[in-house]
Amino acid sequence: MAEPAASHMLDTVPPVLRDDIEEVLVDEARIQARLDELAAEIDRDYAGHDVLLIGVLKGAILLMADLTRRLTINSSIDFMAVSSYGSATSSSGTVRILKDLDAAIEGLHVLIVEDIVDSGLTLDYLMKNLRSRRPASLEVVALLTKPTRREVDIPVRYVGFEVPDVFVVGYGLDYAERYRSVRSIVTLKPEVYGG
Ligand code: 5GP
Repeated sequence: MAEPAASHMLDTVPPVLRDDIEEVLVDEARIQARLDELAAEIDRDYAGHDVLLIGVLKGAILLMADLTRRLTINSSIDFMAVSSYGSATSSSGTVRILKDLDAAIEGLHVLIVEDIVDSGLTLDYLMKNLRSRRPASLEVVALLTKPTRREVDIPVRYVGFEVPDVFVVGYGLDYAERYRSVRSIVTLKPEVYGG
């Protein structure tokens, strides 16, 4: 007899984390299938060009790895780390660069790889900052977007999934540095937040 879908989807979750999960919002298979589509779109749009993927640490690492290995155009990667959140789960609006790019981007086709666009404040800052370095083009790919939370209008060219206004973890996204290795996008039980 087939297993219930929900428990099957949690098979790959490290057992120490499994009990913390409330709901699977986007399962692994849907993420991987959507990445096939996004990579095909990016291949088409950038045909004949090289692209520099800039991953925003740490949340974008799984997306970066899964996306770059799907592309058939020539891609290189670099990373930035910014702080947009304090310890809370909502945006402070203050963005600091903790780690900058290794090299200049002038004249390059740049694609920012972001885990989730929430208020949009982080990306707004990042795009202004990177645009001032005169890339040939600048676009964004984000696995997730929370449209109802947007405070600034950000042109996100490639979006994986829209999610409601709930705090999510998994597929690179953390809560207190945990759950990044969970292969699906999930929500956590309220007691995990200690509330
Ligand atoms: P924004 O500046 O758009 O409000 O926030 C962007 C950053 O906040 C994301 O890159 C991510 O690090 C964090 N963030 C926003 N929403 C969530 C969420 O639901 N879960 C997690 N783990 N991080 C989030």
